[in-house]
Amino acid sequence: MSESASCIFCKIVRGEIPAVKVHEDAQTLTFMDVRPASPGHTLVISKAHAPNLLEIAEVDLLAVASTVQRVARAVQKALSPDGIRIGQFNGTAAGQTVLHYHVHIVPMREGQKAGAHGREPANPEQLKVLAAQVRAALEA
Ligand code: 5GP
Ligand code: ZN
Repeated sequence: MSESASCIFCKIVRGEIPAVKVHEDAQTLTFMDVRPASPGHTLVISKAHAPNLLEIAEVDLLAVASTVQRVARAVQKALSPDGIRIGQFNGTAAGQTVLHYHVHIVPMREGQKAGAHGREPANPEQLKVLAAQVRAALEA
């Protein structure tokens, strides 16, 4: 089986498993993290499969970077966090659990102690509400 055939984020790109999507363009897909570190935790991925920063094609890397900025601005506008953490892990030793290049956008509140990952699955309805708020800010 090819890397992308078994990759969970490639399955989301192909629509084989569901995700609460926020935004999609030719090269990137943005959706809500199912185990959010905080409400509004969003992931931006390249549609093309690449395991990590070291291996992704520059054209895809730049597309993800551009989407991350757009979505982070929309998260700021929609949710008014006190700060936004941008995270990205390369290799299991670094904490990467899904080996398909992605960037975490984690809204932070003053004094909040959030780890890189959440532990509990989010309420799907709450994810849909947050995604709709961020999408509306993106489109405004
Ligand atoms: P990392 O690989 O950078 O450690 O993090 C992977 C992230 O993907 C985790 O925060 C995890 O909650 C999220 N994740 C894992 N599987 C799925 C999935 O099937 N759908 C969604 N929306 N998020 C996922
Ligand atoms: Zn993949």
